Amino acid sequence: MILSGKAIADKIQEEIEKTIASLSSPPGLAVVLVGDNVSSHAYIKMKRRACALVGIHSFFHHFPETISEMELLQLIIQLNQKTEIDGILVQFPLPPHIESEKVVELIDPHKDVDGFHPINIGKLLIGSKGGFIPCTPLGIKTLLDRSQISVEGKDVVIVGRSSIVGKPLAALLMQNSVGCNATVTVVHSRTPHLKAHTSRADILVAALGSPHFIKEDMVREGAVVIDVGINREEDFQMPQGYRIVGDVDFNQVKHKCSVITPVPKGVGPMTVAMLLQNTLLSYQRRIRDK
Ligand code: NDP
Repeated sequence: MILSGKAIADKIQEEIEKTIASLSSPPGLAVVLVGDNVSSHAYIKMKRRACALVGIHSFFHHFPETISEMELLQLIIQLNQKTEIDGILVQFPLPPHIESEKVVELIDPHKDVDGFHPINIGKLLIGSKGGFIPCTPLGIKTLLDRSQISVEGKDVVIVGRSSIVGKPLAALLMQNSVGCNATVTVVHSRTPHLKAHTSRADILVAALGSPHFIKEDMVREGAVVIDVGINREEDFQMPQGYRIVGDVDFNQVKHKCSVITPVPKGVGPMTVAMLLQNTLLSYQRRIRDK
């Protein structure tokens, strides 16, 4: 079965839109972009369009590459103080002269809708409900939940240990709480015998950033395969000269697994839907705590 993240994300966006329509004021998301990276522009466009569709007011702050670290930090301080801003999203990567960690750590954890602040990562690790969970891991968990695919007691193997996907996803799925309780293995570029791990997974998550990396012989018969990868592959038949492919060799693996997410229209739209959900959650917490 091909599991459409897009269909589930659309449903979630409809639900968010309905909730927002009943609010007295719109939630606000500040979107910060430095420089003119083509992919970053595309991501921002997609996220802002999704905000507009559900009724979240997005405030766009776009700066040239030359902005100093201090100027950017000053902006974050201002955004932290603005009551109409519920969420702050800084698009990465930032230019090398700006220390990303400093920027992330300055964002008010209550407005950190990306869930990258150390306080929110810490809350996720200890299983506290009061933080924000990073959007891609939360999107994967929600996609599984809404498709009635339980991770309880399952062997989950995650390929990739980044701080935005692999590590927080492992923390989320292994939590000691109903609906989690998976046995998680995280593998990476220094893992010997990668195939020995991937081929025993009930649920295999590919998040390594290498096109078509996961082949048929790396997947267990009947496994659930979640493809997080977003890679550009040259394709002159496409108007833009490339197409987007995942980390899984979809055409090979689809015959062997029971469920697979496509790329595009798989995990990507779920990530965007979770950004909207976290922004709404931040708004709701602000109103509750007033
Ligand atoms: P990173 O580059 O930060 O991390 C990649 C991870 O994969 C690292 O842990 C690396 O190991 C591991 N890795 C790389 N090559 C191999 C290999 N040959 N064998 C085993 N492990 C390997 O990537 P991200 O986590 O940021 O992104 C991963 C992919 O997911 C990318 O394609 C990205 O575009 C996509 N993505 C998609 C999102 C979505 O919404 N769908 C959101 C975020 C990312 P090591 O640590 O040893 O270097």
